[in-house]
Amino acid sequence: MNYYSLNRKVPIASFKEAVIKGLAADRGLYFPESIKSLPNSFFENIDQLSNTEIAFEAIKQFVLPEISELELKHIINETLSFEFPVIKINDKISTLELFHGPTMAFKDVGARFMARCLGHFNQDNTEEVTVLVATSGDTGGAVANGFLGVKGVNVVILYPSGKVSDIQEKQLTTLGQNITALEVDGVFDDCQNMVKRAFLDEDLTDKMQLTSANSINVARWLPQLFYFLFTYKKLYKTHQNIVFTVPSGNFGNICAGMIAQQLGMPVKHFVAANNANHVVTDYLQTQDYNPKPTTATISNAMDVGNPSNFARIQEIYNNNFNTLKSNLSSYHFSDEDTKNAMLELFNKYNYVADPHGAVGYLGSKEFLKTNPDAHCVFLETAHPVKFLDVVEEVIKEKQELPKQIKAIIHKEKVATKIASYNELKDFLLGT
Ligand SMILES: *Cc1c(COP(=O)(O)O)cnc(C)c1O
Repeated sequence: MNYYSLNRKVPIASFKEAVIKGLAADRGLYFPESIKSLPNSFFENIDQLSNTEIAFEAIKQFVLPEISELELKHIINETLSFEFPVIKINDKISTLELFHGPTMAFKDVGARFMARCLGHFNQDNTEEVTVLVATSGDTGGAVANGFLGVKGVNVVILYPSGKVSDIQEKQLTTLGQNITALEVDGVFDDCQNMVKRAFLDEDLTDKMQLTSANSINVARWLPQLFYFLFTYKKLYKTHQNIVFTVPSGNFGNICAGMIAQQLGMPVKHFVAANNANHVVTDYLQTQDYNPKPTTATISNAMDVGNPSNFARIQEIYNNNFNTLKSNLSSYHFSDEDTKNAMLELFNKYNYVADPHGAVGYLGSKEFLKTNPDAHCVFLETAHPVKFLDVVEEVIKEKQELPKQIKAIIHKEKVATKIASYNELKDFLLGT
């Protein structure tokens, strides 16, 4: 499959080029040249297929022939090494738990898939690729874990000192091997700006192949469509009018679900659930897209003022506002609403949600008010212990640490402190 840049100022790229570059040279996001629906029989008989078979059929058109069928099956098997449970909350609402992977957030799926694609493309290459990534929390851990030990790939993660949770910091700083953590004296935006500057710095790009590992990268974005299909498989025989409610930040996850819809998955509608950062909610009301600086919230992985994947969503619906509106609704909620939802889920349904999942639950409830015939599935995007402080404060119950966390919590942190762009540059040129 070839990919074009949404800015349309550069030639098309192969899957391999799109993965290695991350973002096109005209700063546009890559988008597949065509999306071919799967046959109706695929969806009618989807319960006969295993998750790895579903994933293979769904993604092969985007990846072949640059990765062979055999290699793709291998990559999928390694990526999907954990469960994707769908839990019933009540008759109208279920939740898709995406936190059973190694770093306990949904980003594990995309990070593991992308790491293996990049490792594959780079196996005969003498030049190493450096993945440079800024994180406010979950991305760094998923990328570090996904790329650990991948030959020919070095990973450099920038995180803001003192601004990520203890568990998140351990996930970034205790792995070693080809993973380096840089602890930046600053906030997330400082990390992000340093990374952006590095991608444009010819002193660096002449000497090394730099790439990104956030949802801009097609190999991280597209595999996120898998678990929408797995959920459909679990529910389609017993539920009608399935609607996905996705707690959204950069809108990569929801946009992957929309690709599953383009493949023919009979899903009725999508709901983007947002916190105080709600440029898309406003857009759907006013048709005026107005990016804003971010506001800090307790669902901090969704604190995004200008979601990068929104351009892809526009493209999916042919830049037609009415088509978009008939497929997407969006609501936003305050931290206070979010805490009340966490409490309601716990008291009424005995379900412990993290703040992001709780925003998703609220989105489902809101949608059902005007669409009572829907069955809403909200995505629980991270394990509640990743946000231990808020969760324990709200539900007033101590949480048991899962084994993935117990295994790292006592390991020693190794990070290099930096305070300026020049220190980042020196570090990269020295390695
Ligand atoms: C990254 C993240 C999100 C937002 O996902 P997008 O694809 O950026 O919309 C939501 N919840 C959690 C826990 C995350 O880590």
